[in-house]
Parts: sequence; C-alpha cells; structure tokens
Amino acid sequence: MIRIVRPRLPTELEASLLALSQEMAGTPVPERDKHTDRMWERKTVRRDVYRPVREALEDMASGIDCCMYCGNHMADTVDHFVPKSRCALRTFYWPNLLLACSTCNTRFKGNKHRSDGLVGSLLIDPTREDPFEHLDLGLASGVYRAVERSAKGKWTIEICGLNEGKRPRVRAEAWGNLADDLQGWAHARAAGDVKNMRRKIYRMRTQPFADVCYAALHKAVSEEASRVFAAEEPDVLALLRDDELRAAFHM
Ligand SMILES: [Zn+2]
Repeated sequence: MIRIVRPRLPTELEASLLALSQEMAGTPVPERDKHTDRMWERKTVRRDVYRPVREALEDMASGIDCCMYCGNHMADTVDHFVPKSRCALRTFYWPNLLLACSTCNTRFKGNKHRSDGLVGSLLIDPTREDPFEHLDLGLASGVYRAVERSAKGKWTIEICGLNEGKRPRVRAEAWGNLADDLQGWAHARAAGDVKNMRRKIYRMRTQPFADVCYAALHKAVSEEASRVFAAEEPDVLALLRDDELRAAFHM
C-alpha cells in the first residue's frame, strides 16, 4: 500500500456526484440503504458517473491501475472506503471512492468497517495518510507487518488480506525483478543508453505490486537501510539512493 495523491475532479463530474449526494440526502433515512444500491446500479449512473470516476481513479493510481489497497495492477472496481451499507451519504462522495481489485473489494474488504474510536476508520486510507507510517513491507519475504504494533496497520493487513494467498510470493518476486532492473538501469546509464534507461524505469514503475518499488525507495533512505539491504548486492542500495533514479520516481 502506498500514498496516493487525490486530484480534484472535472467540474461537470463533481457536479454530477454532488447532485446524486443531494438526492440521497433527500431520501428518508429508513429507505437510504435500498436506495443507495438502486442508485449505484442505475444505468445513467453507470455510464455517466461510475465509468468516468473509475477512469479518474485509474489515472490517480500508481503503475498500471494498481489497486489502492494491495498494490496489484489492473484493478477495475470502484470501492467505497466507508462501505455504502455503513454510510449511504458517502456513496457518491469523491474522497470516499478508491480503485480496488475485485479480490480486495469483494473477497476481503467487502462491507467490513471498523471505527478508530474517534471519527475515522481503522483502515488506512492511502489518499489521506502515508501507509508507511503503519505498514512495513519485508522486501525479501513480501510479507507486510504492522509498524510498532499499529492498530491501523494490523487491521489493514487483516481486512485487505495483504498477506493472503500468493501475494507475498509475488511481491518477493517483484523485488527480485526490481533489483535486476536497477542493475540494468545502471548499465544503460554507464553506456549512455538513454532509451534503455527509460525502458527500465518504465518496467520498474509498471510491474505488478507497485508497493514493492516504493517500499524499496522508502527503506533505502531510512535509518534501518544498512540492515535491510545487507543481504543484497552492495550497489542495489546505492542505486536506490541515486538522485537521478529517485527523480524518475518523483521521490
Ligand atoms: Zn487489491
């Protein structure tokens, strides 16, 4: 899971969402739950709202449409951060909409929601806060753990199934590919091959589980870097700290 910047929507789409939110607010409270599902499935809403919202979320996501929870690519569903069954009024609220893969959206997260005891959710919202404050990704293992027993980190790992199935294995493989591409990028730079440098950056940016790449860049400048990268080739850490490489990732 990585930090995502949420832009403003085009004015027309923002107005459509506002009109739908007002329609929901005008619906008597006991009828809202049923009405929210009907509105969400309405043909004109699917065409004029759902699709452009999903496209805006895809543009916002890292890599090739990476799921904002698990980081895997080609996510194609719009998820309600606070489920619409919990708060119908947020069904068409832009800050409540995230891009999710169907595994996260339906199999793991679904309608689950837990309050943080204050006004927020116990689930990390990557569009509002930095997930690295709560989650730590083991690069070699591909396994997430909660930072200093962060309750948000623990609940996020659990509710999104971040360590379930083959996810850790695929992340560990992504880390191996990333280390190879870093070396390839350095060789291309030494040879003055700008085209190949760009190709390597593109590969690193677009591989599945974009969180691996950003976790490596994050760890490389952390206090624990020497320990984390001790088992890796010595130049991997130097490359992750390289100003030119980091600039290509807007770090
Ligand atoms: Zn996912």
